[in-house]
Amino acid sequence: MTADYQKILDHIAIDVRPSFARGKIADYIPALAAAPRDCFGMAVICVSGDEYVVGEADRRFSVQSISKVFALNMALRAIGAPLWDRLGREPSGNPFNSLVQLEYENGVPRNPFINAGALVVVDRLMDVCADPKVAMLDFVREAAGCDDIGFDQEVAASEAAWGYRNRALANFLKGFGNLRHDVDEVLDIYFHHCALAMSCREISRAFVHLANGGISPRTGAAVTKPEHTKQVNALMLTCGLYDSVGDFACRVGIPGKSGVGGGIAAVIPGILSICVYSPGLDESGNSLAGTRALEIFTTESAISIF
Ligand code: GLU
Repeated sequence: MTADYQKILDHIAIDVRPSFARGKIADYIPALAAAPRDCFGMAVICVSGDEYVVGEADRRFSVQSISKVFALNMALRAIGAPLWDRLGREPSGNPFNSLVQLEYENGVPRNPFINAGALVVVDRLMDVCADPKVAMLDFVREAAGCDDIGFDQEVAASEAAWGYRNRALANFLKGFGNLRHDVDEVLDIYFHHCALAMSCREISRAFVHLANGGISPRTGAAVTKPEHTKQVNALMLTCGLYDSVGDFACRVGIPGKSGVGGGIAAVIPGILSICVYSPGLDESGNSLAGTRALEIFTTESAISIF
């Protein structure tokens, strides 16, 4: 029997409220520091097409590292297996913006979800897309079925103004010969990808093909090949939650990707995609209330991949 998803979401929205005060808003750039601490939204999109939402599920927020999933999708679609020539597929066990491991490992990033890896993905996209910023907008607009998704230019400008570590990472990659294009151009695209503004409902819609073997339930189109869908989901499970993948797997038990904007998107293969937003973060950089909300969802619905 299918669980009553709406009832579970309504209950979650009440249950997570006390945790809002404990989260820390990302303040590495001024444009994110103003996010409303007590904001909460959640959306579930089933492969059947049914949608369930609660709270501010239609409020747009800065997707940040969730965009790394879209970029990976695009790169696998356009490049396929050769993408992995210059990029690993292992958890890093280090912070997402760490430089140390890159030095030991000769400029080959551990995976596409740490910043260094995402910069290599952008560099590869520049070989196959005339304009990877426009290509990103085309991808998410088509996947979410929404034509007005765009970049938050204030966030993009703030990322560029304060992006010292990312600039260091890009120069480091360039020094190792693992960035072919101009460092500033790669960074500009990366910062814009991070500054994509989408709602929980839009992100869930743009993820639901990952729960459906790569096929969009809305259009019937193949968004990713089945073997690439497997790779994206496997990477989310093993590398998608910063340094808390093990804890997230134990508590929530599904592949997901978080961003420091406070969003977490996840999929339950064969069943649904889900996205939650609450900007207060835990020490690892994952939404505190968002992680709790997903834990309650998979526990009460009794569906996870384990
Ligand atoms: N724009 C952020 C950075 O590059 C993304 C961080 C994240 O969401 O993981 O530092």
